[in-house]
Amino acid sequence: MSQQITEQVHGHYIGGEWTDTAEETFESENPATGETLATFQRGTAADVDAALEAAEDAFDEWRSLSYIDRAEYLWDIYHELRERHEELGEIVSKECGKEISEGKADVTEAWHMVEWAAGNARHPHGDLVPSEVAGKDAYMRRKPRGVVGCITPWNFPVAIPFWHMAIALVEGNTVVWKPAEQTPWCGQIIAEMFEDAGIPDGVFNMVQGFGDAGAALSDDGRVDTVLFTGSAEVGHEIASKVGGEPGKLAACEMGGKNGIVITEEADLDLAVHSAVMSSFKTTGQRCVSSERLIVHEDVYDEFKERFVDIAEDIAVGDPLEEDTFMGPAIEAEHVEKISRHNDLAREEGATVLVDRFELEDSEIPDGHGDGHWVGPFVYEIDYESDLRCLNEECFGPHVALLEYSGDIEDAVDIHNDTPYGLAGAIISEDYRQINYFRDRADLGLAYANLPCIGAEVQLPFGGVKKSGNGYPSAREAIEAVTERTAWTLNN
Ligand code: GLU
Repeated sequence: MSQQITEQVHGHYIGGEWTDTAEETFESENPATGETLATFQRGTAADVDAALEAAEDAFDEWRSLSYIDRAEYLWDIYHELRERHEELGEIVSKECGKEISEGKADVTEAWHMVEWAAGNARHPHGDLVPSEVAGKDAYMRRKPRGVVGCITPWNFPVAIPFWHMAIALVEGNTVVWKPAEQTPWCGQIIAEMFEDAGIPDGVFNMVQGFGDAGAALSDDGRVDTVLFTGSAEVGHEIASKVGGEPGKLAACEMGGKNGIVITEEADLDLAVHSAVMSSFKTTGQRCVSSERLIVHEDVYDEFKERFVDIAEDIAVGDPLEEDTFMGPAIEAEHVEKISRHNDLAREEGATVLVDRFELEDSEIPDGHGDGHWVGPFVYEIDYESDLRCLNEECFGPHVALLEYSGDIEDAVDIHNDTPYGLAGAIISEDYRQINYFRDRADLGLAYANLPCIGAEVQLPFGGVKKSGNGYPSAREAIEAVTERTAWTLNN
């Protein structure tokens, strides 16, 4: 399937075949226009069952291949991602509403991940551990766990599937993947890439569908590891169910209520840049987006004025236009959710500084009236620990300004006062403050003098507290998809 929109109903990819019957179908929508992009089969428990059977059958042969042979298939995909960069970037923008430079960056991030995972085939991870006893050698060897179930979100519809699948496959596991129901077109294209690369039947399987298909996958005893990126609600359910079963493992990366601390020692140009990028890129719909800006009283007024000025003017519009900064929200239901969060902040005493939730008609591009438009919502509020608006993730361009007095210890106390711990940043030129934040902020991803978005693929990606129980990217993902054997040899 290319850029062409067809009448065809697109199936699942199971055991090397495309399925072609479905009782139920669903459509992929362009969130900037409301247009239908394509129609897909809606996966059922029976489809998941067939995919798991295929994955189980293919495991033995796949695990017997060398790392290098397994990585070959991924290298083909790496080249295809690079060659089709522009085209795929546009498809990402069309299907998930990210502005075009972000659409292309999604594809770039995917090939970075594939390159990292396939590159590992040249230096598989293991440890040589000298035995305590003379005449014996020992080492730690990794084995694939078996069938890996991958459940991925819509906001990085090309990059995140490869975080999960590239590592799982190179390590010798077979995969059953359920793409997000909002981005099945991207799912279709990725499955076609595996087919074109000639990956053996059953090694990679894709079932399109909704949460019921995802639950059928994560609950099934044949799945050895579940890799999940998405909402805290679903992730906690998976982690508690799967984590409780012996022999099964779930690595879940969930949301955040991410904060940026801007101290009295901050370079304010940098602070404004970091806050704007972190709060509004991807229309605030990243798990790492910031929704709390914790600003020292000495610089608060100046920061507020500058941040508000930009939020008032920021270009919301057609994701395919180069000068757009923010595209639409993903779907109508999500616009309602953002609206509820804005209302909640008001009810809890917020002073609203920017309210572009409902855009003016003149701001909506021609022909895009059915898009799911939302603009920035910025408010200030007196910090109180139990305010729901400071604790619950909105996942939109919704951001609180919180003024603090005192020292870095006070700022970090406020920063840590949420149930989440995913990403955050400090903006300061004082190394004592920076080091304190590094050591004490409850975070999986901590940044200094940078936005808190844009993680590099070779680093662990995941959070603490309610944000995660595993690190689905890079080396830690190898842990999640392999078992260790301590092997001892008598010479
Ligand atoms: N990798 C992305 C970043 O660091 C975030 C992924 C996500 O939101 O799930 O900006």
